[in-house]
Amino acid sequence: MTAAPVRDTVLVTTIEELRTRRAALPGTVAVVMTMGALHAGHLALVARAREVADHVILTDFVNPLQFGPGEDFTAYPRDLEADLAAVDGQVDLVLAPSTEEMYPVLPPTVSVSAGAAGRVLEGAARPGHFDGVVTVVTKLLQITAPDVAVFGQKDAQQLAILRRLVADLNLPVRIEAVPIQREGTGLARSSRNAYLSTDGRAQALALSRAIAAAELAAPSLGAVQAALETARQDSAVAWDYALAVDPVTLAPVGPEHRGETLVVLAGYVEGTRLLDAAVVSVTAA
Ligand code: AMP
Repeated sequence: MTAAPVRDTVLVTTIEELRTRRAALPGTVAVVMTMGALHAGHLALVARAREVADHVILTDFVNPLQFGPGEDFTAYPRDLEADLAAVDGQVDLVLAPSTEEMYPVLPPTVSVSAGAAGRVLEGAARPGHFDGVVTVVTKLLQITAPDVAVFGQKDAQQLAILRRLVADLNLPVRIEAVPIQREGTGLARSSRNAYLSTDGRAQALALSRAIAAAELAAPSLGAVQAALETARQDSAVAWDYALAVDPVTLAPVGPEHRGETLVVLAGYVEGTRLLDAAVVSVTAA
């Protein structure tokens, strides 16, 4: 049985209406930004948002600016009805604008750059991706004017870059991070899992197994790196990277590194790019 809705959820498609309705919300507001195709990972962000603020705005927008040529912008799963049903009664406002509403001119004349951190790891494989992300996040923060913005640790590099965005541009918002939500098998939940066949879903478990091995190998940095090297031998995944990196600079850590360490993985299964990540504490060589 589903819990009874706690609030009326209103669908908004224009920026002007969103601003009017947001201004009428008393108390604090949290925003959860998504590209739709909502799953339990997104709903965990909504649940956290409800814990940390009086009101919640969910944005549901497939941002063309963060897709490169030949990527899955057109194919990306879209089902606004299902998304609305998934969050009905859990959020106050759903902003689902058209591309033209968000970008009257595409690409926009003025945009935001993610800098060097946006050109490594995911950014190396997807040039311009993080510039597109920080641009749309800046716009959505301007539009929704939240006290808190809730993001998932699944997109670990994105989270690190968004922390820089907020700090570097002095944006008046607090970032709240939510741990990766997984299926019972360990597979990190992702809208792109919908592209995988049954076999592909089984092959994709190599990523979560690698994360589990790295977590088990901590706090020794050498053991973490050896676990990642072993994981990369699994040919079910066409690996792009499996690295221990600095959680702020995203640069691969050297042998002297100690403290918080970000383990990041990316690879292709059946042509679908999959990510996984974990934060581990390193205290020994
Ligand atoms: P997306 O719709 O894929 O752009 O994701 C929107 C937000 O949901 C981002 O902050 C993601 O990091 C977060 N998210 C997506 N999948 C998960 C997951 N499995 N666990 C936690 N957060 C997630």
